[in-house]
Amino acid sequence: MAAPAMMMPAAAFQLGAGTIKFSYLAAAVLFIFALKAMASPRTARRGNLTGAVGMLIAIVVTLLSGGLHWRWIIIGLLIGSSIGALLALTVRMTAMPQMVAMFNGFGGLASATVVIVEFWKPGAPSTDLYFVVTVAVSTLIGWITFTGSLVAFAKLQGVVIPSRPIVLPLQKAANFGLLAVTIGLMVLLGCSPSHRELLVPIAVLSAGLGVMFVIPIGGADMPVVISLLNSYSGLAAAATGFVLGNIGLIIAGALVGASGIVLTRLMCTAMNRSLVNVLFGAVGARAARTGEAEERRVTSWTPEDVAMVLESASLAVVVPGYGMAVAQAQHAIKELDDLLAERGVTVKFGIHPVAGRMPGHMNVLLAEADVPYEQLCDIDEINPEFEHCDAVLVIGANDVVNPAARYDKGSPIYGMPILDVDKARSVIVCKRTLGPGFAGVDNELFYSDKTAMLFGDAKAMVTAVVRALK
Ligand code: NDP
Repeated sequence: MAAPAMMMPAAAFQLGAGTIKFSYLAAAVLFIFALKAMASPRTARRGNLTGAVGMLIAIVVTLLSGGLHWRWIIIGLLIGSSIGALLALTVRMTAMPQMVAMFNGFGGLASATVVIVEFWKPGAPSTDLYFVVTVAVSTLIGWITFTGSLVAFAKLQGVVIPSRPIVLPLQKAANFGLLAVTIGLMVLLGCSPSHRELLVPIAVLSAGLGVMFVIPIGGADMPVVISLLNSYSGLAAAATGFVLGNIGLIIAGALVGASGIVLTRLMCTAMNRSLVNVLFGAVGARAARTGEAEERRVTSWTPEDVAMVLESASLAVVVPGYGMAVAQAQHAIKELDDLLAERGVTVKFGIHPVAGRMPGHMNVLLAEADVPYEQLCDIDEINPEFEHCDAVLVIGANDVVNPAARYDKGSPIYGMPILDVDKARSVIVCKRTLGPGFAGVDNELFYSDKTAMLFGDAKAMVTAVVRALK
């Protein structure tokens, strides 16, 4: 077996208890600085790097203190880093939520499997109530996170499971029943810890709970679910930290758990929905109202028309959405921004918190194209400006500018704060068709007298507008 060879004495790297504690403290401080820096697009890259350094310290110290030879640590780091780098370099920006879902899922699975191994290890304190409770909690949260994340991934990717909410008969009652039985088994395990085999049904039921919990939620609400599962993966890690007595894991897990909850709350606020409504509302289950689109009249403009209107504006606002990400139009948009600025037009970008398919999606793409941060305005900042705005160019956005969110109580996006582009003097919407966005609902903005459609792929159309301006 390879294990004994791996655990060879690492005399040169024997770490004292003080060094270990100090290293975990340093890692925790780096995590906190990382979170702070990641709160702004300007410092996000630095934050990411700071967090990675903290994690490297925590992992290396944990493995060295467990007696693992440095050779194995380096091999593990090389394999893990290569897989991570490959994924990071190849994943499409539009598939980022799926990738985060998988990260969360494997985080939960790792926590759950580590505690199972610890529980069955010879000499484990398996009659100690504290140990048993933390093992059971980590198993519950870890498996829910794993299977819930797999369902979230499948829904977003559109494989195996359709993205619409799937509501089974008596779904809520079944979920609560399943949860009650699982907690009952956990209590039973706590009362009679010698029955270690009880952990198996707890794991199986928890895995079932993860599926049952996510399956009735629609694809449009998946980012909130992923953020919540992210928080769960942190809680599972923290519980595993208690099982292992590893302070670093407890701190890292608690930080992930807390930041995931904060992000979940922010996203719910951005959509003006409660978490209960997101989780149990099955929003999107009813058929979306489409089909009227073809019968109504729209105004269609050429890139030359658009160039003329934008050039004569004194304030123009660009509203990017998911279509900009699909078309990778950000660099063409930056060129348009520069040309308009040269002609004395003030250009601002209106960024909706849930535009695109992940939090901060638009910011990341525009930053990649070197659009200055000063030009990026969040919803509260830009909404009062639309009244004074001569032209709005909506590029591949749909739900986040749909006025139905203000008054149509039957709409799945009802109550979501939107960018008030319809208050501007003229609105140009660039997309390929009159088709709906993520929420699957028609958008009356397209048929307004103020609106002109610029039909086509966002990158091709913006490039054509740039050409016309030149
Ligand atoms: P939407 O999904 O509402 O609309 C995007 C539009 O882009 C579509 O109507 C599509 O129209 C158009 N489009 C697609 N490809 C292209 C292209 N190549 N060129 C031009 N246009 C294109 O996007 P929004 O950003 O307005 O709203 C985001 C939605 O996604 C919200 O409902 C939000 O809740 C949800 N969501 C948000 C996440 C987040 O965290 N940000 C994550 C997951 C979902 P057409 O096909 O006609 O071109």
